[in-house]
Amino acid sequence: MARPAKALIDLDALRYNLRLASDLSPDSKVMAVIKADAYGHGALGISKALCDEVSAFGVASIEEAIELREGGIKTPIHLLEGTFSDDEIITASENSFSVSCVNQRQKIAILKADITSPIDVWIFVDTGMHRLGIALEELKSTYEELNTSSNVTDNIVVATHFSCADDLENDFTSIQFSRMTKAMDDISVVKSFCNSAGLIGWPQTRSDWNRLGIILYGGSPLPLPKFETKKLKQVMTLKSEIIALRTIKAGDSVGYAATWIASRETIIATVAIGYGDGYPLNATNGTPVLIRGERCPLAGRVSMDMITVDVTDLSSVELGDEVILWGADLSADEIANYSGTISYELFTRMPARTKRIYIKGDTR
Ligand SMILES: *Cc1c(COP(=O)(O)O)cnc(C)c1O
Repeated sequence: MARPAKALIDLDALRYNLRLASDLSPDSKVMAVIKADAYGHGALGISKALCDEVSAFGVASIEEAIELREGGIKTPIHLLEGTFSDDEIITASENSFSVSCVNQRQKIAILKADITSPIDVWIFVDTGMHRLGIALEELKSTYEELNTSSNVTDNIVVATHFSCADDLENDFTSIQFSRMTKAMDDISVVKSFCNSAGLIGWPQTRSDWNRLGIILYGGSPLPLPKFETKKLKQVMTLKSEIIALRTIKAGDSVGYAATWIASRETIIATVAIGYGDGYPLNATNGTPVLIRGERCPLAGRVSMDMITVDVTDLSSVELGDEVILWGADLSADEIANYSGTISYELFTRMPARTKRIYIKGDTR
């Protein structure tokens, strides 16, 4: 018998989410963003499931890109943050990875690199997020220099990243968008603006390429549900089993620091999942888990390997019962809300100890 904590990864749900996203923006190409081990879902498993259906994969480093190539992925791969050292340009050229150019240093490295096959470059422009990207005023000269370099192919893309696209009330996305269109007024070039939140929340900013991450995994890119986000299917189901049951008296406390105190005679189920398995330490008392299809509240602090749950209100419960921590009927977004974080973090923090099991369709 193995430790029962596991993450089921539903590849049919993944492809369903991709289709949903593609249908929203049928004229755009999709870059499936699979950095950080495909947001914890396993980069190879996810890329194999999507390789014939997307135009490129986006990763955060050359190591992540090489892992995919070595795993047999032939689909174009893009380094979203560009290169971290100048020699990576050579590796990128040899493996035909496309690279972002996010500052003048990277631009110089691209122009000066001693390479024989030219690379595809995406010029990332800082339109207000002030994290990465060349200055708006530098776009034209940067474009000119790269476009005339024999190290660069003709497939230059101009891109930007929105800082507030998940907030539909905040006009900053429109401001960033218009800064971008103004700066490009006399350059005719392939464009990329949207991440998942941009795609759902700001239809006018959909363009030649959408760079999609969280939406593919079924997480909501917007804090408030919207028609489209409600249709997403969560790809990851985190589950485990009840490994102990006991009845405690009113007034008894449960767990580290005794943060939960029984107000009545209570049945406590101990579940084999903890922060060492990717369940958030900060999940507060009352965070729901699913047992026999019913929501039961977390009672007591999350341990490394276990949690404790109040199952008093279940009509029946047994040792070995399956416990769903998040999945189709209990979203990671909701658990993230109870834990002061976002589903992106819950997914990407999933440790290696929790086995990913790839399934097709809901086999539960
Ligand atoms: C991670 C990333 C994305 C994907 O963002 P989601 O919100 O997950 O869709 C898109 N573009 C860039 C530049 C990124 O770094």
